[in-house]
Amino acid sequence: MNIEKKKRVAVVTGASSGIGEALARELAGNGIQVVLLARRFERIDVLASELGHGAIAIKADVTDRESIVAAANQVEQTLGGVDILINNAGVMLTGPFDSSQLDEHRQMVETNLLGAMTVTEVFLPQLRRNKGDLVNISSVAGRVAPSGFAVYAATKWGINGWSEALRVELQPDIRVMVIEPGAIATELADHITHEESQSVAKSALDWAIPPSDIAEVIAFAVNLPKRTSINEILIRPTVQMM
Ligand code: NDP
Repeated sequence: MNIEKKKRVAVVTGASSGIGEALARELAGNGIQVVLLARRFERIDVLASELGHGAIAIKADVTDRESIVAAANQVEQTLGGVDILINNAGVMLTGPFDSSQLDEHRQMVETNLLGAMTVTEVFLPQLRRNKGDLVNISSVAGRVAPSGFAVYAATKWGINGWSEALRVELQPDIRVMVIEPGAIATELADHITHEESQSVAKSALDWAIPPSDIAEVIAFAVNLPKRTSINEILIRPTVQMM
């Protein structure tokens, strides 16, 4: 009788670029079936075809609960639910704290913090049943809070506090990890509208490290035996001071 072990299924939010895309590549390379979530469907569709091995793309916006529920239903029905849920989708719209970026403040909170909570809450029954892993992408800005980063840092400090409470609440069934990257070479700074803040963020690209370095570390962490958890990983370019 040919009994094939079911592949683990990873759901990666924000898989259309940067860290999420690198993670999808790394996890697929580790024999994990990946489900790519993002708003830019064409990008994740192309990536899923490139990855093969059952990778699928689902258009979803983490600020739109209905789209997440639809994605979760599809993952449940076609793949038997999620084993590794990675809350990676995020925006960094830095700038001085005043009234000129109110919509961007809301977007950061709704995407980075509430979005991660919504995705987790919706997928939680599957994650519990499959005794899976929850990986939350925070930031070095979840530990330090430089000028210009007030709301972004608030979302990432929020992710850290929420993750720690979940770590305690969901063990032993679910393993919770929080990842705090430093400067990583991605599209993140492209969306900053405050000119000076954007040029500061872009200057870090001179020494930022590639997203594949972060992906490799996360793949290592989720491949450890379930009895062992790396709960928190701060990972920066060697030359980064803050
Ligand atoms: P990118 O801009 O390259 O990727 C961000 C991803 O988030 C995109 O795939 C985007 O997809 C997705 N996204 C944004 N808004 C939504 C939404 N409403 N619904 C679904 N997906 C969304 O940046 P990074 O790869 O750098 O960022 C990934 C994570 O890493 C973020 O949480 C960021 O805060 C964090 N991080 C990044 C650092 C860096 O230096 N780059 C440092 C520390 C943390 P789409 O637009 O297609 O929906």
